[in-house]
Amino acid sequence: MTLPAALTLALGALIGTTMTGGASAATSGGEAAEAYDLVVRNGHVIDPKNHVDAVRDVAIKDGKIAKVAERIDASAAKKTVDASGEYVTPGLIDLHAHLFPGPEDAYKNGWAGVAPDGFTFRSGVTTAVDTGSSGARSFDLFKKNVIDRSKTRVLAFLNIVGEGMAGGDYESDLGDMDPDMAAAKAKENPDTIVGIKTAHFTGPEWTAVENSVKAGEEADIPVMVDFGNNRPQRPLEQLLTEKLRPGDIYTHAYSGLRGELGKDGKLNPGMWKGRERGVLFDVGHGGGSFGWDVAIPAVEQGFLPDTISTDLHIDSMNSGMKDQSNVMSKMLTLRMPLKDVVNASTWASAKAIQRPELGNLSVGAPADLAVFTLEKGKFGFVDSFGWRVDGNRKLSAEVTVRAGKVVWDLNGQAAQKYTPAASRFTASTDEH
Ligand SMILES: [Zn+2]
Repeated sequence: MTLPAALTLALGALIGTTMTGGASAATSGGEAAEAYDLVVRNGHVIDPKNHVDAVRDVAIKDGKIAKVAERIDASAAKKTVDASGEYVTPGLIDLHAHLFPGPEDAYKNGWAGVAPDGFTFRSGVTTAVDTGSSGARSFDLFKKNVIDRSKTRVLAFLNIVGEGMAGGDYESDLGDMDPDMAAAKAKENPDTIVGIKTAHFTGPEWTAVENSVKAGEEADIPVMVDFGNNRPQRPLEQLLTEKLRPGDIYTHAYSGLRGELGKDGKLNPGMWKGRERGVLFDVGHGGGSFGWDVAIPAVEQGFLPDTISTDLHIDSMNSGMKDQSNVMSKMLTLRMPLKDVVNASTWASAKAIQRPELGNLSVGAPADLAVFTLEKGKFGFVDSFGWRVDGNRKLSAEVTVRAGKVVWDLNGQAAQKYTPAASRFTASTDEH
């Protein structure tokens, strides 16, 4: 086999580079360079907590952010990633996902959930919050099967229903919404349970919401509400102005299924009043909870989300939702500024779950970060109801780092370029 001349030349040049390149410990100055584990260089860092929105180097050591500066000496680093022309953000937090797959029928230990590591890192997510797939009686299994085995940091909103999301009959069972049991389980697991969830409730009563808030108060954690069936007996405005506390989270904000947008095309005044009180509004896109016919007028009226999340499950990921970075690209298409889109997927989400150590690149913070390209071109974004809106920018996760380790590397930016000298089969021929 003969190599084309150009390739032979290129390979020769590569070998040359390797032989002369090979920077290791030595530096030119008197000061020894710090032996970082990883330095991500020249990327445009967006770190909303620290008000950074500029080209910076980021150095990582021992699983923590070690330094963020205009220029970091990386000559002694074990690995470097050149992020020129790319964006570097804290590892994304997906505030709404279903991550408890198993042999049963629904989201609790069921077919509708997905295993986190297969779906998180490839979109820049390093922390994923399961929202109510498990309840007080199924949480231990969830922890054993998923939380303890995942490389993704998995946190949980505990379902107010003891059984968790085991299907319609269970989820509307007023006899299985014990706030004391939920609060006790949350207090037993302060490292992983960050909130209480109510979802899919079909009845006219306020019990599901009220017991969730009771549990939230007892355990001092926020409540996330999927408001279930639309019922005149429990109007949205009352939920947002009377029932929820500041810091509680209304997810599926652009679903349109519970009167978020009026017939006059105006946002439900309760949404504004809730926001004034400090209720947070989450996207929670999912398979049936994001409509362009709500999101476009809402954003035009100035109602942007506090947090961006997927409502990841086996159906949503294969339909319009896809993944966290795709939902972020949808918000860019709605002209939400990039730094706000990043904030709503990092720092704002960390604050919403009272985990201020996450979602930022402060020195000493866990070394979770993501490198994105902002692709320019023609892209189509589909909502949950089959409608497409065209956009011209799309975020694509190139490199994801979790606890200082590269866990996703789309184009091999963290890998070493291949040279014949590196071959496992020819490298030692000289010695024969
Ligand atoms: Zn959900």
